[in-house]
Amino acid sequence: MNVKKGVFLTVAAIVIANCTIAQQKKIVTKENESQQWVALKQLADEDSSRLVELYKDLHQHPELGFKEERTAEIIAKELEALGYVVTRGIGKTGVAAVLHNGTGPVIMYRSDMDALPVKETSGLPYQSTATTKKEDGTIVPLMHACGHDAHITWLLGVAKIMLNLKDKWKGTLVFVAQPAEEYIKGADAMVKDNLYGRGVPLPDYLFGMHTAAYSVGYVENSFGYRMAGSTGVEVTFHGIGGHGSMPQLAKDPVIMAANAILDYQSVVMRSVSPLNPHVITVGSVDAGTVGNVIPDKATLKITTRWYEAKDRETMINGINRVDSGIALMNNLPQELYPTSKITGSVFPVKNDTVMVNKLNAAFDAKLPLVKRLIDRPATMGAEDFPLLIINSKKNPVYDFMFVGVGNKEVCAKYSKDGVFYPYNNHNPNFAVDFSAIPLGAIIGSTALLELFSK
Ligand SMILES: [Zn+2]
Ligand SMILES: [Zn+2]
Repeated sequence: MNVKKGVFLTVAAIVIANCTIAQQKKIVTKENESQQWVALKQLADEDSSRLVELYKDLHQHPELGFKEERTAEIIAKELEALGYVVTRGIGKTGVAAVLHNGTGPVIMYRSDMDALPVKETSGLPYQSTATTKKEDGTIVPLMHACGHDAHITWLLGVAKIMLNLKDKWKGTLVFVAQPAEEYIKGADAMVKDNLYGRGVPLPDYLFGMHTAAYSVGYVENSFGYRMAGSTGVEVTFHGIGGHGSMPQLAKDPVIMAANAILDYQSVVMRSVSPLNPHVITVGSVDAGTVGNVIPDKATLKITTRWYEAKDRETMINGINRVDSGIALMNNLPQELYPTSKITGSVFPVKNDTVMVNKLNAAFDAKLPLVKRLIDRPATMGAEDFPLLIINSKKNPVYDFMFVGVGNKEVCAKYSKDGVFYPYNNHNPNFAVDFSAIPLGAIIGSTALLELFSK
């Protein structure tokens, strides 16, 4: 009896003890999570007005790819002032900053810096009126229409928060401010300019965030293929110039280019399986000066998008076949056959499953103001982000995610569920709501703290 009673009491005591430990654990875990949110929110809020001013300044001073001198200097100075070891001028204008903080993983956080030749029409008080002279002498407007100004601001906000929370993580933190993402050339340029031979360690994890046309508070982070491969092609049709009234004496490259634009869509697009996502767009046509002169050349700038490498080959071969066919049709001598060159190429973006799941679990548990959009389809957009690590021997993994920056009221007005922002990236009315600035810094810091946590 006593024995039984003793056993019962012992079992009861163990159960009670276990319950208490479990409850304590639960409470401790929750406290830790809420403490992290509270700490991050406080740090981001304290820094918010500085970050918003920084954002507005960057927005009013956009620079094209490989010309981001002013932007890069702002980033370098800010990171140096925080105590990071900074290297400038990697891949022309790229910046890398390193902070060693004990033994742990190496994590790289990347932002891009370049703007676009777009004339801003947002009407915002800080709207860009900047212009620049291109290499051919033409003046073009400039705008941060892809939100890379927000990416830089997030990076600087995250860098400050991670320094303030230095006792909460162990490892090496690397920030990369990359040039010329829009040309899909900047990441490759940094690696080829010895990024990893300048005191920058190869990361175990590469992380990046892009602005997206969702309402502030929504993020999209999914594993697997998310963005397409992209190959740029430039084709020049050579002809024989002449009078517009006497085409029989000329070889008209404008007609050749016009045929090619349509034949790419028909001939090439009929060569790839419709089950495989792919697209060809001719985004630039450059020929001639006046109506009555047949010029001697016409140049097309083309982008191809694909997920399978074999489809890329099919499309490039198809472009070449169309060009040769047009030369034949126009009875061109061999020396006037069209010439073409590849202007850049990137692989599809394929996010790591384990890394994405780990970060999503942290976002769900630790970011009360953030909702995750799930089942969003992959896009035909492209990014050179993976090129920072893809050819390295260490086999690092990466995650590239999307963060909503649209004004909540505007989203509520224009989309029935209030989630989608009407002005997409590259639109002249694209705008980043100021509330997305501190929230992005919190999301980025949460991701880094999670990756450092084990
Ligand atoms: Zn863009
Ligand atoms: Zn972009």
